[in-house]
Formats: sequence, C-alpha cells, structure tokens
Amino acid sequence: MSGKADIALIGLAVMGQNLILNMDEKGFVVCAFNRTVSKVKDFLSNEAKGTKVISAESLEDMVSKLKTPRKVMLLVKAGSAVDDFIDQLVPLLSRGDVIIDGGNSEYQDTSRRCEQLEKLGLLYVGSGVSGGEEGARHGPSLMPGGHEAAWPLIKPIFQAICAKADGEPCCEWVGDGGAGHFVKMVHNGIEYGDMQLICEAYHIMQSLGLTAPQMADEFGKWNSEELDSFLIEITRDILKYKDAKGHLLERIRDTAGQKGTGKWTAIAALQYGVPVTLIGEAVFSRCLSALKQERVQASTLLKGPSTKVSVADLPKFLGDIKHALYCAKIVSYAQGFMLMREAAKENNWRLNYGGIALMWRGGCIIRSVFLGNIKDAYTRQPNLSNLLLDDFFRCAIHCGQTSWREVVANAFRWGIPVPALSTALSFYDGYRTAKLPANLLQAQRDYFGAHTYELLGEEGKFHHTNWTGT
Ligand code: NAP
Repeated sequence: MSGKADIALIGLAVMGQNLILNMDEKGFVVCAFNRTVSKVKDFLSNEAKGTKVISAESLEDMVSKLKTPRKVMLLVKAGSAVDDFIDQLVPLLSRGDVIIDGGNSEYQDTSRRCEQLEKLGLLYVGSGVSGGEEGARHGPSLMPGGHEAAWPLIKPIFQAICAKADGEPCCEWVGDGGAGHFVKMVHNGIEYGDMQLICEAYHIMQSLGLTAPQMADEFGKWNSEELDSFLIEITRDILKYKDAKGHLLERIRDTAGQKGTGKWTAIAALQYGVPVTLIGEAVFSRCLSALKQERVQASTLLKGPSTKVSVADLPKFLGDIKHALYCAKIVSYAQGFMLMREAAKENNWRLNYGGIALMWRGGCIIRSVFLGNIKDAYTRQPNLSNLLLDDFFRCAIHCGQTSWREVVANAFRWGIPVPALSTALSFYDGYRTAKLPANLLQAQRDYFGAHTYELLGEEGKFHHTNWTGT
C-alpha cells in the first residue's frame, strides 16, 4: 500500500461499515473514522479484520492519510450531524477536495450545503444510497448529485461498488445541487406506494379466505410474471414463514412505522403542485394504521356493508387483483416521474429519467423487472412527458383496467379499504378526462371571492361575474 487511502468514510453504523467492506472488496483503500472513536478500533479488529481498511484517530489524522484530491464520505445520521462534520472538515480540506453525504438527507439541505461549500472551493456530493445493509455490502443503488466536477473523481469507486443490472451500473450522475437526494427521496416514496399496494392485495386475499400458503403461492406466481420484484418476492417469503407458534405474520401488530422520506415526498408533491396521490395515500395509510386503539374501538361501533366477501371464480379474481396492482403501480411510477420532472424544471436539473430507472433497477428495495420497462420507455422517447402515454404502459393499462375497476368496486362493496388502488384509478380517470368539473370550481371561486375565470377558447383573458345580479 502507498500508505494513503483512496477515500475516507465517516460513520461506522450499519451502512458505513458495509460500504467500507464493499469498497475494500473492490480494491479501494478506505480510511475509517467515527465520532465515537472507540468504534473505529472495534471495527478494525472485528468486521474489518484482515482487510486493507486503515483507521484514523481524529479527523486531522484521517485527512492526512488521504490521497489528493481527498474524498470524504459521510454515512451518519441525517441532519445536524452532517453539518457538524462539514464544519469540522472544512478547515482541514483543500480546494478541489470532495465531501460526499451518503445519508438520507433532505434535498434542500444538500442544495444549501452545495452552495456553502462551492464558495469555499470544495466539491460537495449528496448521494442517495439504497438497498439497506445488504445493498451497502454487496451493491447498492447509488444516486449522486451536487457539484458535477466531483463525478469523475468518485465515479470509479461508485460504479465499482454499486449494484449492476444487466451488466450496467446502478449508479449515474443525477444532477446539480440536491438532485441526487431528491431522486432518492422519490425512490423512497415509490417504495411506500409499492408496499401499500401489496398490503391492499394481501388484505383482499385474506378477506376472501385465502390461507397464508395460498397467498404465498399467488405472490410466488406473480413474481415470475410482470410483477417480478424484490418486494413481491419477500412478501411471498414472509407469508410462508413459520415459527414454533405458526405463521408469524398473523401475530405482528398492524401498526406501521415510518422514518419520514415518504412524508417528504408527499410534502414535495404538495409544494410543487404535482398530484402524487398514491404515495400520499400510502403515507396516510401508515398514519391510519398507527391509530390502532381508536380503530379497535371504532370496529365495534361503526358499521360497514353486510355484503359477503366472495367471488364466483376465485382464480380469475386473483388474476384481477394482480392486474389491479400492476395498473396502480404504473400510475404510481408515472406520478413519481411527474414529480421529478417538475422539480427538475424548477431547479434547472437535467435529469436523465431512463438513467434513474436503471439506477433503481438493481440494488434497491424497489428493484423490479418493471423498472427495465420504464428504462425502455425513456430509451424509446427521451422526452416522454408522462409514462402513461408510453405505448407499453398504455397497452398494459388498457389490458388490465377492467380487472382493476372490478377489484376496486368489489373492495368498496365489501368495505375493504383500498386507498392506493382506488386513488390510482381516480387519478387515471382524471388524467384521461378532457373536461373536468373544475369549471364549476372556478365559478364558485369567482362567486365568493371574485377570483375570476377564463372562458374556453379565450385563455389568458380573465372575467368576473356578479353572480347574484345585485
Ligand atoms: P444511523 O443510525 O443513521 O447513524 C449512526 C451514525 O451516525 C454513527 O456513526 C453515529 O456516530 C453517527 N452520529 C449520530 N449522531 C451524530 C452526531 N450528532 N454527530 C456526529 N455523528 C453522529 O446509521 P445508519 O443506519 O448506518 O445510516 C447512516 C445514514 O444512511 C443515515 O442518514 C440513514 O438515514 C441512511 N440510510 C440508512 C439505511 C439503512 O438501511 N440503515 C439505508 C439507506 C440510507 P456514533 O457511533 O458516535 O454514535
């Protein structure tokens, strides 16, 4: 070894440790550091024993052990910990050195840090890292954005350690400022949506009386078809899992947790004015699930329909559920890409949508065959304005929509909540409706608030009417 490390990594919790081991395996020399310095020694003498990883006892020591231009990657708790480390690193680094934040930072924080560090001549990268512990160790999906001049410096490391899909790295430069973290945030929101859709399919199947092994078989079948994906695969395995007391899933408390990135996506959707309804419903569904005590009480007081949950042709209806899930998933991704398109417009990011689909194709929780179809759609039409308009997805919805409507209508009849499946269908119907009832809404706004309205065919000219004629 030349004595100098290729990169430093700060933060020896689960993500940092696994990324270091991944980098080491790919031939890079990593210098490890952590706020609680004793953890560096522990890591070197346990998990990193026998590797090329070197340790640092202080930030000064770490910086002195790096090849120039220096590359320092942070994998610490998002928020003030990132700012604290940046503040400590700035006096120790030189112009042209790179700081990379691989945590789940808010994209506005990343944009702010980019601007601050640019003034000091330092290159800043905010990179989404997806795939959890397993991904970090064996190949995550990486979504780097920030100062583009940093990309050639970190590209060899990033593209060596990331997941590969069909031989291509699941890591490309995303865009300026907070673009990388924005794309990662939307990825997490989409993950919320995918999980919610699967939960709704499970809920309907369960209500129809399917046993856990029957449901596992159904998800297993779906996993060999167009819904082939990591989340469908793990759902199959979860449904199969038994311990000494039987199927574990049935005994898990039905209250979902959340760390916030789904909520951030929904907030961004509201801020940018993009109807990302499915992710919003997925976040609210987790909130509703958390009201366990209230729900238990309400279940004894609030009546639903008395319609029996049954279908004449169960195998056919299970196919309908699959089509419903698939169609709603198309809408969810279309909405996610709409959000990225709008944010790109507002922030002057040049996002490569096909490249983003490819980045999500492997390594991350939402990895699926479906993302390959999205990549193909953007390859066919790089300026595609909406995924729903791509021939492949348009045909898929045309083919599945009768089933989708059947499933949503039945769920409503039976009183089974399907917020994600149904909001996607409403969005689809709204998006394909040339004339919505917003004319009435405009009239109402003008009536009570003199907010004015435009007439069809006379856009740009605003009118006000005295609706009461007084
Ligand atoms: P984490 O639990 O989020 O954070 C622990 C690390 O942050 C430790 O190194 C800790 O140092 C350091 N830290 C915490 N507060 C600090 C402070 N105020 N000042 C300085 N250092 C501080 O670790 P993680 O789960 O490995 O995640 C790291 C980052 O990756 C996070 O942003 C997380 O959101 C993101 N991420 C996580 C996953 C996942 O599956 N876990 C997946 C993707 C992305 P000490 O040891 O000294 O406490």
